[in-house]
Amino acid sequence: MLVKQSCHRLFHRRLKVKNFEDSTTQKNRTNRIILAEQTFHKKGSSPPDFPLGLILWYEVFISNSKPGDMMKYAIGCDIGGSFVKVGLLTEAGQLTSRKTIPLPRFKDPEDFTGWVSSALVMFARQNLPDDGQLSGVGIGIPGPVKYPEGTLFDPPNLPFSGEIPFGELLRKRLPFPAFIDNDATVQTLGEARVGKGRKIRNFIYIALGTGIGGGIVVNGRIYRGDTGMAGEVGHLVIDYRGRKCLCGARGCMEAYASINGIVNSLREFPYDLPGEIRELLETGPWGKLPGILKERIERGEKHWQKIWNIFADALGAGMGSLINIFNPEKIIISGGLSYYSSLFLARAIETARHYSFKQPAAVCEITVSKLKENAGIYGAGLLVFEEEGK
Ligand SMILES: [Zn+2]
Repeated sequence: MLVKQSCHRLFHRRLKVKNFEDSTTQKNRTNRIILAEQTFHKKGSSPPDFPLGLILWYEVFISNSKPGDMMKYAIGCDIGGSFVKVGLLTEAGQLTSRKTIPLPRFKDPEDFTGWVSSALVMFARQNLPDDGQLSGVGIGIPGPVKYPEGTLFDPPNLPFSGEIPFGELLRKRLPFPAFIDNDATVQTLGEARVGKGRKIRNFIYIALGTGIGGGIVVNGRIYRGDTGMAGEVGHLVIDYRGRKCLCGARGCMEAYASINGIVNSLREFPYDLPGEIRELLETGPWGKLPGILKERIERGEKHWQKIWNIFADALGAGMGSLINIFNPEKIIISGGLSYYSSLFLARAIETARHYSFKQPAAVCEITVSKLKENAGIYGAGLLVFEEEGK
C-alpha cells in the first residue's frame, strides 16, 4: 500500500513536468493511472527498485496506452559477454537509435533481470518518439534458450548457472511485451529480414566468435526444432576422434573454427610461440589473438597462416556437410571473426566444395554478412513484429 501511494505521488509530480495527453481529461488520466497500477500489481511483486524506474515504468506504460493509429516501434536488445547493445526499430526494419551499455557483473538472476528491465525502460523513455507506440522488446542472449518462454540454461556469459526463468522474471517488470531467444537465432532473423538473407527461402547463418553460433532458415522461416534449440551448427562433428569441445563432445567445428579453436591450434602449434602470444594464451583476452596473427602474417611471418588454414579446413568441412544436408541457397558468415575473412574464406569455400555434392555446392553462395555486429539488434527488434503478426 505504501509503495502504491508513493507511486501515485511521484507520478503526479512528474505529470506536472510533462503531459503525455494534452487533450485528455483528468478523469481519463486518473483512470489510466489506476489501470497502470492494476497492471503493475497484476504483473507480480517485483517493482523497479528505484523511484525513477517506477516513474519511467508508468510513463512508458501510459504513453503506450494511447489510442489511435501510431507509428509502431520495437526495441532490439543483444546481450553479449560484457556489453548490451540496444536499438529502436521501425516495423520496416529501420534502426532509428542505438546504444551500447557496459554490462556490470551480477550476483543473481533477480539482480540481473532488474538491471536489464531498468535499462530497457530507460532506453524506451529516452528514444521512443512522442507519436510512437512500443510493440515490445526482443532480446538475444547467448546459450540455450527455451522459446517462447525465455528460460535460460547455464548461460555461458553470466555468472550463474542452472535453469533461469529470465523471460518470466523480465515480463513481470516490463510495461511492454518481451521475447527472448538465443542470440544467433535472433541474428539469423536479422539477416533474413534486412540482411543478405532477404528474399532468400533457405539459408544457413554461421556466426564465428568465441564459439560458433548458428541459425537455419527453411522456407523463409527460422527452423527452431522441437524444443527451440536447433541451429547449433558449431557443434557439427567434423572429426569424431578430434579435439575436445567445450560442449563435452569431440571434434566439433567450433573446436577449430572459432577464437577457442585458434587457441587450441596455437597450443598444438609445433613452433616456438613469441612472448606476446604465450602471455595472451595464459591470461587472455583471447579475442586479441586473431588480430595479432593477421598483423604478423602481413609483416611476413607466413607460418601463422597455418593456424588460419586449420580454421578454414574445419569451417569448410562443416559447411560441406551443411550444403549436403540442407541444400541452401546461401551460407552467410558473420560474427567478429568475419572481419578476418580474407585469411580463411577462399580456402574454406574450396574445402566446402570438396566435401559436398556437386549440384547443391554449385547453387550455394557462401558470403560474408553486411549487418555484422548489428544483426542481433535488427533480429531481436524484428522478432517482436513477427510475434505480433502471428
Ligand atoms: Zn561441441
